[in-house]
Amino acid sequence: MTGKHAIVVGAGPAGLMAAENLARSGARVTVFDAMASPARKFLLAGRGGLNLTHGEEWTKFIARYGAAAGRLAPALAAFSPDDTRRWSADLGEPTFVGTSGRVFPKSFKASPLLRAWLRRLAASGVEFRARRRFTGWNPDGSLLFESPEGPVSETADAVVLALGGASWPRLGSDGGWTRILAERGIGIAPLRASNCGFDVAWSARFREKFAGAPLKSIALSFEGRTLRGEAVVTENGVEGGAVYALSPLLREAIAARGEAILTLDLKPDVALAALATKLSRPRRGQSASTFLRKTAGLTPVAIALSREAGDLPDDGAGLAARIKSLPLRLVAARPLERAISSAGGVRFEEIDENFMLTNAPGVFVAGEMIDWEAPTGGYLLQACFATGAAAGRGALAWMERIPRD
Ligand SMILES: Cc1cc2nc3c(=O)[nH]c(=O)nc-3n(C[C@H](O)[C@H](O)[C@H](O)COP(=O)(O)OP(=O)(O)OC[C@H]3O[C@@H](n4cnc5c(N)ncnc54)[C@H](O)[C@@H]3O)c2cc1C
Repeated sequence: MTGKHAIVVGAGPAGLMAAENLARSGARVTVFDAMASPARKFLLAGRGGLNLTHGEEWTKFIARYGAAAGRLAPALAAFSPDDTRRWSADLGEPTFVGTSGRVFPKSFKASPLLRAWLRRLAASGVEFRARRRFTGWNPDGSLLFESPEGPVSETADAVVLALGGASWPRLGSDGGWTRILAERGIGIAPLRASNCGFDVAWSARFREKFAGAPLKSIALSFEGRTLRGEAVVTENGVEGGAVYALSPLLREAIAARGEAILTLDLKPDVALAALATKLSRPRRGQSASTFLRKTAGLTPVAIALSREAGDLPDDGAGLAARIKSLPLRLVAARPLERAISSAGGVRFEEIDENFMLTNAPGVFVAGEMIDWEAPTGGYLLQACFATGAAAGRGALAWMERIPRD
């Protein structure tokens, strides 16, 4: 592969993984990024402990990618969660599987892993060009970048675009590429918030007192799906792992009907009948709050939340029903800028099995900019690594077909 030059645009986990695969096979690789330093979102993910991948068995694991599972499966099998763990360990950051199956580096940090990765990439000849924003193609097919010194044109034998989604735009991925690719006739599903919070019209009193309060060990149900987990009350509504996991369904329901009624079970470990029996005991002069706290073990936020749905029923059966199926009316998804990830992106119909754009031969895509979504739990980074590796391999295979000068 000596003599061939590949350009990777986007220095997030997907782009860097593509660069690594290309450089390992001897290609000359230059990585361009709009920001002054690489992988800012990856570093932010490190603040939450850096959930690199997930340790569950394959059938369950692949199902997390929903409608995109079939198209992502070959890439995820070729660079699997075990490969991610080996890769991290090779970079001096061994991982462990947490109780929930989530895989983290033992250090829980992204910065040492990224530093080691960038060192290894530099040692294999990968060059990094910061502050180069890809703005499109020149008529001669070369890539056009905006730089502090003005417009710059670059040519390569193959290009990997790994430009991310559009959440947290100040970290570099702002979805500006959607216009560039759409102008080239490439089909893009609109970018939407995924793994996001939702708005609820809280009463002023509830918002003031409970914004930031966690709702631990609850169950959330929507359209026949029930999930155990945690949520957090926010000023605007709710967020947290269990809410994120239901976010695709909730988002679509709100788009179709203007609202989604999420059902909360605040006591999922206690059966309805048993709770009703407990709550039918005489109150002996206790206030409703004290009674619910002492008899049902509800936290102050859970009690206040039960009241947000209307006056509390007087009878034990009614109270138990309220606690076990508390309706929460969600009226909007939080903005994409604040979501963990984006849904939408380059449609799979536009990509061949090597992640090459069929409309733009020699141009490959990887990572969150492709039209897939997955819950939090390490599935996002895993698919970014896997599609980055696949696009890198695809670009290599493409360059092998080009005769040497
Ligand atoms: C708060 C938070 C926590 C997260 N935690 C986790 C977690 O623990 N586990 C997990 O699996 N996932 C997590 N994620 C999601 C994960 O970080 C992303 O899915 C992943 O970073 C996407 O990788 P990517 O390489 O596709 O894109 P990005 O990481 O977004 O990288 C894209 C790169 O492209 C560059 N770029 C964009 N447009 C241009 C352009 N026109 N020209 C040049 N460069 C451009 C950007 O500057 C950026 O560097 C988290 C996300 C957030 C916001």
